[in-house]
Amino acid sequence: MDCIVTKFGGSSLADAKQFKKVKEIILSDSKRRFVIPSAPGKRHNKDYKITDLLYLCHAHVESSIPFDEVFKLISDRYKEIVKDLGLDLNIDDDLNIIKKNLENGFSRDYAASRGEYLNGIILAKYLNYEFIDAAELIVFDKSRNLDSEKTNQLIESRLSNVEKAVIPGFYGANSLGDIVTFSRGGSDITGSLIAAGVEANLYENWTDVSGFLMADPRIVKNPKTIEKITYRELRELSYMGASVLHEEAIFPVRKNGIPINIKNTNIPKDVGTFIINDFTNINENRTITGIAGKKDFTVISIEKALMNYELGFCRKLLSILEHHNVSFENMPSGIDTVCLVVSDNQIKDKLQVIVKEIELQCSPDSIHIYPNMALIATVGRGMTKSLGVASKIFTALSDNGINIRMIDQGSSEINILVGIENDDFEKAIQAIYNSFV
Ligand code: ASP
Repeated sequence: MDCIVTKFGGSSLADAKQFKKVKEIILSDSKRRFVIPSAPGKRHNKDYKITDLLYLCHAHVESSIPFDEVFKLISDRYKEIVKDLGLDLNIDDDLNIIKKNLENGFSRDYAASRGEYLNGIILAKYLNYEFIDAAELIVFDKSRNLDSEKTNQLIESRLSNVEKAVIPGFYGANSLGDIVTFSRGGSDITGSLIAAGVEANLYENWTDVSGFLMADPRIVKNPKTIEKITYRELRELSYMGASVLHEEAIFPVRKNGIPINIKNTNIPKDVGTFIINDFTNINENRTITGIAGKKDFTVISIEKALMNYELGFCRKLLSILEHHNVSFENMPSGIDTVCLVVSDNQIKDKLQVIVKEIELQCSPDSIHIYPNMALIATVGRGMTKSLGVASKIFTALSDNGINIRMIDQGSSEINILVGIENDDFEKAIQAIYNSFV
């Protein structure tokens, strides 16, 4: 049977007005059988997210500070939604149990998860769908890692005979029944797991933007929306993807080739962005799909004559980073040089120690540190077929007086990465965008 799994983010379910939009969307297509809600988000700029308030309640309990006032903000919000929707639903008992459990020292994850739990109960009642607790379906191990296999089995068996259901996002449980949450924004992952488990035809992710934009709108005015993007391109553009979709959300559906459609609850007629597996079916002529970047990287440049003959040089180098729990972003190399590009917040206090250890263990001829670098990724599946993409990027940058400090093109040929000065970041993104769009 055709089936769409639909996930709604916090801003889509922030109040009764938003709930009404959500209901209209769901009822407009009977294939929307499994619905994953987030907790209510902000209604306006100065508002609170329910999840933040729940974390705050837990912090109060931990510090033995009364949390009645914060909890009242939470309960008032839910009661208002129930009342404004005119639902015949009493959530007082649930609220009282949650408050008691918090007082009795239930975990931080438990506290945070109740935002989705309560929203799920309300939405299920409003839609007249079955409510299924995510704790029954999403399984974590003792180390808080998702047990994907068990989760998939449980979803498959539990939902196989269910016509329509609401399943709260963001959490599951371990084998002891204790609640465990994903990292923030994790309802996206729940939606993806459910979509994979029921072998949905489509995973819709409803939010408050009409999909991914080709560039950051704070830098480029009115950038075009990306209509179609492959999972691989999205990974390459993860610098900008993360705020719309949780990074880990693509993996469960990607395995089964289920497309994700990012849609806007406030403008449902917008097509949004489709994230798909295979780009052979996409007939578009656009060379690049998107441009994204990040500031604040440091380059550790290591030089040693005949480095290319020295066995195990890079292994030694990388094990020093590993030992200090530092991951690197990129590693461009020449015949006698290798550079480690590391994000500043990874290496902050560790740079001096790491350099010392490299000197001791790798005996390089020289080590130079270049701070203040920004990375810009220009990504596009169309690059593989097009000549002159790199030259267009470099010309755009040089025409704007921007010095390129590093260049890297992955062998997949869908990404050209350039390193530039932090100060040139915005200008560079605008210049590359202008030259392709
Ligand atoms: N409510 C959780 C958060 O604010 C999870 C989510 O919205 O996906 O992070």
